[in-house]
Amino acid sequence: MQERIASPAKTIEILQANDFQFAKKFGQNFLIDLHVLDKIVRSAQIGPEDVCVEIGPGIGSLTQVLAENADQVIAVEIDGRLIPILEKNLADYPNVTLIHQDFLKLDLQAKLDEMNVTRPIKVIANLPYYITTPIIMGLYESGIPLAGMTVMVQEEVARRMQAGPGSKDYGALSLAVQYYAEAKIAAFVPQNCFMPRPNVGSAVIQLTSHVDKPVKVNNEKLMFALIKAAFGQRRKTLVNSVSNSPELSFEKAQVIAALQKLQLSEQIRGEALTLAQFAAMANELEEA
Ligand code: SAM
Repeated sequence: MQERIASPAKTIEILQANDFQFAKKFGQNFLIDLHVLDKIVRSAQIGPEDVCVEIGPGIGSLTQVLAENADQVIAVEIDGRLIPILEKNLADYPNVTLIHQDFLKLDLQAKLDEMNVTRPIKVIANLPYYITTPIIMGLYESGIPLAGMTVMVQEEVARRMQAGPGSKDYGALSLAVQYYAEAKIAAFVPQNCFMPRPNVGSAVIQLTSHVDKPVKVNNEKLMFALIKAAFGQRRKTLVNSVSNSPELSFEKAQVIAALQKLQLSEQIRGEALTLAQFAAMANELEEA
């Protein structure tokens, strides 16, 4: 086993040797806790068959551990100053492919095709928090075969992804994520596990992709538009939030009729509906 990049002493040595200043705009909070790295690898159940895609490798702290456990690692980093550091730190790991690009602009499927990767990938990352949701939802909506995602996010966001109806954390993100995956918080990670320390607590969330979608919905777009409308006006009844939504064109009577068919109260708020009920509402309203 090689010396760990993520130890506090080694991280400081690398940062000083390269005169590296953190760029706030890129959400740079490097992991300096070896137990957390271990937890991520164990939660993702990374084995010698796996192809991992890492978003934002930083100086390679997590990349190194992934490379030692997986078949291949594709690491995508936006900050050009980190590329020579990564090349040097990961020189002993021929199974790492470094890509210097904004992950949000990368055609990942094209890259996977170019590398002849056919099996579902595992996405692993200590995410830059300013783009957590676009990264996760972008990956799901891309249709790229995913075995799972194991990602460090703000604690509050992890709670939202895992929440169900009745919880104050339940919202559009909970439903969007749970449509694609089973969400489970694998670890809470305190601020002192990072350099520099972030302002908020973090958590590792394990998103294990569903083999079959948990609900049958004929029009996904409509279901997500209903969810967006329901939580955009959280304190209103579903009838009002859906019929007032500028993105939807349903009359109050249509929404009431759909609710009646599902034996739900006219007074119900969106925050009380399960994913299955949103899917059923979408199916009813589509017919309408
Ligand atoms: N993986 C490293 C670790 O755990 O120590 C670094 C994690 S740090 C929270 C986030 C990393 O994502 C930084 O290296 C940052 O430069 C990179 N990053 C930020 N925005 C990005 C983007 N749009 N595409 C790719 N990488 C990005």
